[in-house]
Amino acid sequence: MTMEETKTILDENEIPKKWYNIQADLKTQLDPPLNPQTKEPITPEELKAIFPKELIKQEMSRERYIQIPEEVLEVYKLWRPTPLYRARRLEKALKTPAKIYYKWEGVSPPGSHKPNTAVAQAYYNMKEGVERLTTETGAGQWGSALAFATSIFDMDCTVYMVKCSYEQKPYRRVLMETWGANVFPSPSTQTEVGKKILETHPNTTGSLGIAISEAVEDAATHENTNYSLGSVLNHVMLHQTIIGLEMKKQFEALDDYPDIICGCVGGGSNFSGAAFPFIEDKIQGEHRDTRIVSCEPMACPTLTKGEYRYDFGDSAGLTPLLKMYTLGHNFVPPAIHAGGLRYHGDSPLLSKLTREGYMEAIAYYQNEVFEAAKLFAQTEGILVAPEAAHAVRAAIDFAKICKQKNEQKTIVFANSGHGFFDLAAYDAYNANKLQDYEHPKELILKSLKELPAV
Ligand SMILES: *Cc1c(COP(=O)(O)O)cnc(C)c1O
Repeated sequence: MTMEETKTILDENEIPKKWYNIQADLKTQLDPPLNPQTKEPITPEELKAIFPKELIKQEMSRERYIQIPEEVLEVYKLWRPTPLYRARRLEKALKTPAKIYYKWEGVSPPGSHKPNTAVAQAYYNMKEGVERLTTETGAGQWGSALAFATSIFDMDCTVYMVKCSYEQKPYRRVLMETWGANVFPSPSTQTEVGKKILETHPNTTGSLGIAISEAVEDAATHENTNYSLGSVLNHVMLHQTIIGLEMKKQFEALDDYPDIICGCVGGGSNFSGAAFPFIEDKIQGEHRDTRIVSCEPMACPTLTKGEYRYDFGDSAGLTPLLKMYTLGHNFVPPAIHAGGLRYHGDSPLLSKLTREGYMEAIAYYQNEVFEAAKLFAQTEGILVAPEAAHAVRAAIDFAKICKQKNEQKTIVFANSGHGFFDLAAYDAYNANKLQDYEHPKELILKSLKELPAV
């Protein structure tokens, strides 16, 4: 390999054959999810109404490596292994001695990391005889990943899409429908939850919390139908480790190892997937100086301003209670363009590792994030998703610090997806119309006060 290479590309037969389960290496176990009524730990039995057995097993497993089914690997080959790029033109523009790398997940058919878990989830459900999956989607990134995955395995897919996105952002809906999914604006008349809300609030624009409640009700009340979640849960983090496992092989090929790893965090899946295989090294006492940095919006600062405690996963309070960093399930973040980073909570695994000091977090304003995305587009050519742009901002800031200190550090960021469906956001930024929000401390404290007592 010469110094001039831009992409480090693995062969198809080098795709990792197992996912890495960080639960095997935790010094103390995760606090268990609790039944929202009894506040007792959830039993696998209770989860069977909406999840397949294999995913329930993975959710609780403490086996270090879990075999990726052959059929899933076959689908992964449509876009995996994904390239690890060296951002040489960005380095040059910044005049930094640092090396900047990014792992590019935008090459998947739906354009993000999300099919890494959507394909696995659809497969296990199909294997257990499930014929239809339900889910919710905000702007449509998760819905389109699941629509793609279910079409591959000949399953039906019902997506409850937050009504304001359904009306304002039609293109991801078109993508989902082209893959064969049924998409309803939420709240809908398909479910009791939806009908009740429409009676009292006929003009509501909907919310992710309502859409989750609809998708769960639909799955729980229909035969051969399950529910599927695109982030937060342990089995989702597990499937996403394919990203970090590939990255490790790529850095081995480069004979290098990252000093700084950053990525954006909504529910935590793309960044956990990229970072956990490196945190494994830290837990084993190697590469302890490597910094692992979560990037989040100032408008939804879960890790930097939230509290680490039990909370519901949805706003209706129907889901199990999870121990995580949270801003409170009633927290409604401002309508920033990085829709995928507007979740009130975070993955329990990522939360615990942050609490224990293996990871840290930084929050950014949206204008500085788009400024970074624009520089990235103009140097590297790729137009990243507004979510991924948070990681670009962090990588640039770290590279600037390296310039000041004249340090040749190796920086890598998880580049979670492309922004071709987010051009309205770029349009607003280019026209100087983006607003910076910082969520007021009082509102965060107010919403944290409404957390359930456990
Ligand atoms: C959904 C999404 C995210 C946020 O979700 P995580 O689970 O935190 O990864 C980030 N980037 C892109 C491109 C997404 O589609």
